[in-house]
Amino acid sequence: MASSFARLARSAERSGRLQVSKEPVDNPPYDIHKLGDVVLRTPARRIGKVDEAVRDLARDMLVSMYAARGIGLAAPQIGVHQQLLVIDLEIEDPASPPLVLVNPEITAVGGSICTYEEGCLSIPGVYLDVVRPSVVDIAYRDEMGRPKRLKADGLMARCIQHEMDHLNGVLFVDRVSDADKLNSGLKEQGFDPADVRSIA
Ligand SMILES: [Zn+2]
Repeated sequence: MASSFARLARSAERSGRLQVSKEPVDNPPYDIHKLGDVVLRTPARRIGKVDEAVRDLARDMLVSMYAARGIGLAAPQIGVHQQLLVIDLEIEDPASPPLVLVNPEITAVGGSICTYEEGCLSIPGVYLDVVRPSVVDIAYRDEMGRPKRLKADGLMARCIQHEMDHLNGVLFVDRVSDADKLNSGLKEQGFDPADVRSIA
């Protein structure tokens, strides 16, 4: 998910097993695929064992996400079809550890149905309203393979749902109901509206 605020972060040196510097680097380990790339439409597979290779991948995803000033990234966005997400809503705070989600599942949704403007590192420059539940309960494994549960609301709930969509080959533009704004927003940024697979 893209952040519309982009102040520079200071370097991160604090705790957190997977914490990497949040300072944007010029040559991130992965390029982020953009709308129109078929890899974004391929469903991700569950991860069997959470080992050092998975942690290395999560670190590289974080570096790539911080380089793009994003707050969430799903493995399919870098062309890796595994159920792995990284999220950091505090990219300006070097001491705040990121969240790493392996094999996340939504176990309940609640709250209200709310509208919020989303963006995506795979569709840069496009920000459009999407309707989603305001609260989600999820089950997942952390970076050490430990089973975890989380009840999320606000921006975290929004970001989790957006990133989990990526694991199913779904992009936020698929959920935009205002076709006029969708088409003009995409065209302004050089994207082809024909690459949307509407489920709105
Ligand atoms: Zn996205």
